[in-house]
Amino acid sequence: MMATASDTRAVLDVQSLARADVRALPLYAVDRTARAIDVSDNVNLWGTPPAVRRALADAPVETASRYPSLYSIPLRDAVLGYVGLGSGAAGGVGVVTGCGSDDVLDAAMRAFGDPGDRIAFAEPTFSMIPIFARLNGLEPVAIPMTPTFDLDPQRLVDCRAKITYLCSPNNPTSTMLSRATVEYVVEHAAGLVILDEAYAEFAPESFVALVARHERLLVTRTLSKAFGLAGLRVGFGVASEPVIELLTRARGPYKVNVFAEIAALAALREGADGGLAWVREHVALAVHVRACLADAVRALGLEPLPSSANFLCIPTPDARDIARAMRARGVLVGVHTGLARDVPVLDAAGGQALRIGVGPWDVMETVLSTLAEARRCA
Ligand code: PMP
Repeated sequence: MMATASDTRAVLDVQSLARADVRALPLYAVDRTARAIDVSDNVNLWGTPPAVRRALADAPVETASRYPSLYSIPLRDAVLGYVGLGSGAAGGVGVVTGCGSDDVLDAAMRAFGDPGDRIAFAEPTFSMIPIFARLNGLEPVAIPMTPTFDLDPQRLVDCRAKITYLCSPNNPTSTMLSRATVEYVVEHAAGLVILDEAYAEFAPESFVALVARHERLLVTRTLSKAFGLAGLRVGFGVASEPVIELLTRARGPYKVNVFAEIAALAALREGADGGLAWVREHVALAVHVRACLADAVRALGLEPLPSSANFLCIPTPDARDIARAMRARGVLVGVHTGLARDVPVLDAAGGQALRIGVGPWDVMETVLSTLAEARRCA
């Protein structure tokens, strides 16, 4: 019997066709309205390395008509060299690249989590983690952070989750995990451990070398922060060859476009025609400005958390109102509400915090004066 028009409409109701997890997800709601100053998303506020500009200016436009390389071997080698795990340094370590480290995190959940499996992490952390988890049919399990913004490694391990996610330095708190915590979790966790090091360049140490000793550890990094390439979307993961092989399948081909690959190779190159010297110089500058900015914020009567990243996290009960008042004055800062309140300073701030990216000092001066004014009016 043929379906009537009304039957067909019922069958094609897109809401009921969609997965419940997808229907329930909010869209990533970042206010992208242009403002004179935007220090809201932790990118490199000094810009892009000049070596990348040159490489892109010289890039043959005809390349756009061809697919990029499938798995980008030159980029993989450049990444291994950059993280100090190049040929000879550590056998059996590989790299997967992606359309931002978001892509690598998402692919890792797809590769290692069967629908219904759990992914454990300490909150507050990177807001996309529970979202990618749900999109991949996983159940996010959050444990509280300790009062010093570390985490209880045994408690995390006791979750016996298929995937354990660590973030150091952590977004949005800007704080680092201790080496002892990371090592304990990596040694004892039941399944895959993801260590997100998106902000590693600004921290006193990176734990990436642990991948040479731990087959089930995946360290993710990005060129969106220190390298100034957020708009080109390049991220990568470093892990043992077997993990990389599985991740590469789950990620799929062609994720880094031709121009992003050209830019990434230029950014990761040493020497006069490379971007690494510029990146190092601006990371050092960011670390210096971070300390000056923290002092100036303290002078305004606010207390930023100890930062190992390129931003400050400032818990304050009126963060939402301050951010709104700053926005009205042309300055966009990050704002968090509803943060997990297990940590006393976050509880005292009603779970609210401002997040301010570190950048050139003249920009910071405007941010500071606007912050002071906004607090008077908020
Ligand atoms: N991890 C963390 C902790 C982040 O803060 C971000 C970006 N905000 C990412 C991963 C994703 O970065 P990207 O996709 O640009 O590499």
